[in-house]
Amino acid sequence: MQIRSTVPLGRIAGIRIGAHWSAAVTVGLFTWILATFLRGTAGAGIIWAAAIVGALGLIACLLAHELAHSIVATRNGVHVERIVLWLLGGASELTDEPKDARTDLRVALVGPATSLILGVMIYGAAAVSSVFSPGGPVTETLVWLGTVNVVLAVFNMLPGAPLDGGRVVRAVIWWRSGDRLRAETAAARTGQVLGMTLGGIGSAEIIAFRDFGGLWLILLGLFLYSAANSELTLAGLRHRLGAITIGDIMTPAPRMADAAWTLDQLLRSDLVYTHHHVFPVVDQNGHPCAVLAWADLLRTRTRPHPGLRVADIARPLPPAAIARADDLLADVISRIVLRPNLDAVAVTDPTGRLTGLVTATDLALACNRSALGLPTHPSTNTH
Ligand SMILES: [Zn+2]
Repeated sequence: MQIRSTVPLGRIAGIRIGAHWSAAVTVGLFTWILATFLRGTAGAGIIWAAAIVGALGLIACLLAHELAHSIVATRNGVHVERIVLWLLGGASELTDEPKDARTDLRVALVGPATSLILGVMIYGAAAVSSVFSPGGPVTETLVWLGTVNVVLAVFNMLPGAPLDGGRVVRAVIWWRSGDRLRAETAAARTGQVLGMTLGGIGSAEIIAFRDFGGLWLILLGLFLYSAANSELTLAGLRHRLGAITIGDIMTPAPRMADAAWTLDQLLRSDLVYTHHHVFPVVDQNGHPCAVLAWADLLRTRTRPHPGLRVADIARPLPPAAIARADDLLADVISRIVLRPNLDAVAVTDPTGRLTGLVTATDLALACNRSALGLPTHPSTNTH
């Protein structure tokens, strides 16, 4: 899942944190829920102040949960693009998949474990606070925050992808069978069942008890079901693409533009007479740093500027768009969406120099060929 347009909040432990506007809705909603919970413990002003602090505390706890996932992932060689806070809490965006079942299990378990430990610690603080002010707003806020953390730990351990419990299911099946695809498919299927079950319980709540709190469960169930569905699609795609690597489908030694070139130099080069739609841009070391499409070139007509350089008009390459030739194609396409004639994946050698390019067209061709059961290269068809 990709959430665009976020507000950057800085870095913690080297990991970028961003907030989507919908996170503000979550803070507002939890402030209201907590204020309702605190009713009668103090005057209105104190209750609202405690509710706002408690809701922000909850966001900090959600962030701690995601940071735990991200830090363990980074330590085990899985790149983390960033953490995004949004309507349904936090999401860690990993740019690649865990390489083995052990890592998968560790990354999955550490989130709920963090929430559980936080919950217990906050309950401890509530116990201390209740000595001084039993039933007061501070004590009750701590009790609420502790409870929400424990509920988060338990809910996230429900066995269905994309919840952490689903990742645990995936890791355990992967560990025991050695078959990651089978594990992924099973975890996504349990996610679908879990989504339908939550939706069913929510509907029953509304029908049998006329309790419209069930509506929330239905929404959550729908979200889980659709997320599990797209994981299943992705698993199917992985299955079809199998062992195809980036090196199998890339254009080797692509024509490239130098970031230091002026626009004039670029337009006078023979690059513009090739049949390519997207050009990789390299820095003085030959490392890819950006991509340049015809659309970017055409845009310069509206703001002609004699000193304009390639670096000024090209679009920076996100880390997810840099790959190695031996990376699995299925892994790369699960982390990045390539728009036709606009984006590309830059392929580098171990020294970071550009050696190949994969465009949306290359991807579409690979998918079509594999759908027809054809090999990616005619040379592999000789037997
Ligand atoms: Zn989690």
